[in-house]
Amino acid sequence: MPVTLPQLSRREFLKRAALAGAVTALAPSSYAGLFGKSRDHHTFFFLSDTHIAGNPAEIYLNVNMTDHFTACARELAAWPVKPAAVIVNGDLAYLAGKPEDYAQFALLIEPVRALAPVHLSLGNHDERENFWSAFPHDAKKVKAVPEKQATVFSSDRANWFMVDSLGITSKTPGILGPAQLDWLTHQLDARPGKPAIVVVHHNPQFPVPTTGLLDTSALMEVLASRRQVKALVFGHTHDWHIVQHESGIHLINLPPTSYPFKDGQPSGWVRCTLAKDSMELELRSLDVKHPKHAQVQTLPWRAA
Ligand SMILES: [Zn+2]
Repeated sequence: MPVTLPQLSRREFLKRAALAGAVTALAPSSYAGLFGKSRDHHTFFFLSDTHIAGNPAEIYLNVNMTDHFTACARELAAWPVKPAAVIVNGDLAYLAGKPEDYAQFALLIEPVRALAPVHLSLGNHDERENFWSAFPHDAKKVKAVPEKQATVFSSDRANWFMVDSLGITSKTPGILGPAQLDWLTHQLDARPGKPAIVVVHHNPQFPVPTTGLLDTSALMEVLASRRQVKALVFGHTHDWHIVQHESGIHLINLPPTSYPFKDGQPSGWVRCTLAKDSMELELRSLDVKHPKHAQVQTLPWRAA
């Protein structure tokens, strides 16, 4: 089963914020936009590579990850509509998935949880048992694939397939493995009629994966021939860009909310809105002077 955090009611959010007391990041006054607005069932918020450390003062590559995440959370709260769901696509924790990293992440994600259900995936800087321990309601459930965290959820215009590419914590490459690929194949085949969007932490890497998804070719073989698959969303490289695979599947590399590895790359989040036959993506860079900030791209779906 996934780790999907259910939406918090206004009452529950305010109660938890009051308990958190002095944590200014959670002050309800900072999140005035959270309540009293309508939901757009076709809009989704993507975040990736949050790299939250147990110590909120931790800085890496000149970025305070907690500050960046909090700034993103405020923007999500201020967005004019509530999304159908929020996806945080792996590398939730700073370096090695320590329990204190997840404790801090759980605190910071609270205002986002007041907007919509939040779906979490894992990256190479996460640690499964610590992660599951931090969200014990889900940890008790039977996993769809042993030792992996995978899920399917459905929205009005697409089915979403979240798979788990965490191989070994703190080792850069990732892998889905044959059991999970089988599971994904069956899940896709059971849902042929609606556009499918697949979400994974590691980047597909061609022709020979070294730092990305080691079973890229096996994954692309599953996806390319199933015409309902329209897009593959991933993070890991901390490098915002979109290309189209030869199969017509859009390959969408999310920006980090935390630190880019290269100068000039943005950090922030992405607004996604689905149409019947396409997806609209908008980069929301924390640096609003970034040339790609607020740039909107429409990705038409390949033919069924
Ligand atoms: Zn990362």
